[in-house]
Amino acid sequence: MSLISVVIPVFNEEANLDELVSRSLSSCDKLENPYEIILIDDGSYDSSRKKIAAAVEQHPGKIIGVFLNRNYGQHAAVMAGFAECKGDIVVTLDADLQNPPEEIPKLVSKVEEGFDVVGSVRIQRQDSLFRKAASFIVNKSVQKHTGVDMHDYGCMLRAYRRHIVDAMLQCHERSTFIPVLANSFARHTTEIEVNHSRRVAGESKYSLWKLFNLNFDLLTSMTTFPLRLLSILGGLISATGVGFGLFLLIMRLIHGSEWAVGGVFTLFAILFIFIGAQFIGMGLLGEYIGRIYSDVRARPRYFVQKVVGR
Ligand code: UDP
Ligand code: MG
Repeated sequence: MSLISVVIPVFNEEANLDELVSRSLSSCDKLENPYEIILIDDGSYDSSRKKIAAAVEQHPGKIIGVFLNRNYGQHAAVMAGFAECKGDIVVTLDADLQNPPEEIPKLVSKVEEGFDVVGSVRIQRQDSLFRKAASFIVNKSVQKHTGVDMHDYGCMLRAYRRHIVDAMLQCHERSTFIPVLANSFARHTTEIEVNHSRRVAGESKYSLWKLFNLNFDLLTSMTTFPLRLLSILGGLISATGVGFGLFLLIMRLIHGSEWAVGGVFTLFAILFIFIGAQFIGMGLLGEYIGRIYSDVRARPRYFVQKVVGR
C-alpha cells in the first residue's frame, strides 16, 4: 500500500488552520492508504506555528510540522516539505482552502492509474480578472516551452509520484517554480478539474510585487531566451540603420545634397548601426551568461527511474 504525503505550505494562515487540518484529515481518512500531512510553517509571525504544533500533538504520526526559521516563499516551503516527506505519492495543496482538500482522493487515484504528475484545472476560478489574465499568458508560454499540455500552472493542488519529487529535490537552483520543474521531468501527465473557492480567511500572500517576482522566477527557471532577445533587438536596430542609410543615399542621388538636412540624417543612420551592434554584443555576452547560468544550476542531466536485471 503506497504511502500518501500531503504537503501544505503555511504563511500566516492562523484563521484557516483549524478547518484546513480537520478537512484534510477527514479527506485523507477516506483513502485506504496510510498517509501523512506535512505542514510547513514558512516563518509565520501569527499563531500559525503554535497551531501546527498543537495539531501535531493531537494527531501524532498523521501530522508532521516543519518549521522554517524565516519566510522563504511558497515554493521554497513546498521544497522543504518534499525533503521531509516519505510518501510514494505526494500531493501539494494551499493552506487557504481555495483548493478543497476533498479533492485529494481524486488526485491520488489518478496517480495510481499510472500518471507521474496530475495537475488540476480550476473550474470557475475565484480570483480577480487581472490574475486570471496574467495566468492565461503564463500558462500559454509554459505550455509552449515544456511541451506539456497543461492548462493551469498556477494551481498548486497537484500530485506527484515519488521519482518526480526526488528529481526536483536534486535541483539546487534558488528560484524554483514547482509545477514547471515537475513537468520538465514527467512523462505521463494528466489533469483533472477541481473546484476553486474564494479565500476563506486572511489575505492573499502575494502582493503585486511578489507576483511579479514569482513570474520572473518562472520565466528564468524555464529559459534564457530573454538574454537572446538582446541579440535579436540589436540585429533589428542595426538592420534598420542600414536600411535607413541606403534610403538616404538613394534619395540624395535623386534630390541632391540639400536633401535631409545636409547629412544630419546620415549621422542618425550610422548611429543606429552602432547602437544595434552594441546590443548584439550584449546579446552575445548573454549567450555565455545563459550557459553559465545553466551550468551553475547544475541540474542533473537525467534521472534513472529504475534499473532492472541486476
Ligand atoms: N505561502 C507561503 N509563503 C509565502 C507566501 C505564501 O508558504 O511567502 C503559502 C500560503 O500560506 C498559502 C499558499 O502559499 O498556503 C498560497 O498563497 P496565497 O493563497 O496567498 O496565494 P494565492 O492564492 O493568492 O495565489
Ligand atoms: Mg490562495
